[in-house]
Amino acid sequence: MGDLRNCPECGKVFVKINKNLCPDCIDKEEVAFENVRKYLKDNPNASVEEIVEITGVEEKKVLRWMREGRVDVSFSDGSSGLTCKSCGTSIRTGNFCSNCAKTLSAQMKGAAGQKIIRQEEPEKEKRRGMYTADRMRDD
Ligand SMILES: [Zn+2]
Ligand SMILES: [Zn+2]
Repeated sequence: MGDLRNCPECGKVFVKINKNLCPDCIDKEEVAFENVRKYLKDNPNASVEEIVEITGVEEKKVLRWMREGRVDVSFSDGSSGLTCKSCGTSIRTGNFCSNCAKTLSAQMKGAAGQKIIRQEEPEKEKRRGMYTADRMRDD
């Protein structure tokens, strides 16, 4: 059985089974992602600002997809808008820069960094699996 929880997007109460958003918001987000994906296909050099302006999708969503590696875009000034969660340096995708990722994986072997990794990774993997399944259904 799932837990009742509030959708972080729209605030609606829904039964959480293995998704973080309510079904409505998941549908909406997938539609938004498709729009962005199509736009990027025609405009591979589009900036984040341009995508937000043309597709109407929220910047924070674009940033999240960048973190998840679903889209490869940058701001018009060339920055990715993403920063390493550990040291704050500018990164292209993911949560950590390559230096911190190395440090963290070394720490993980020594158990000290485990907590950080645990917080980030299962969520990401869950979401990725979910979208893959959804996309396959659409096709
Ligand atoms: Zn919702
Ligand atoms: Zn870093």
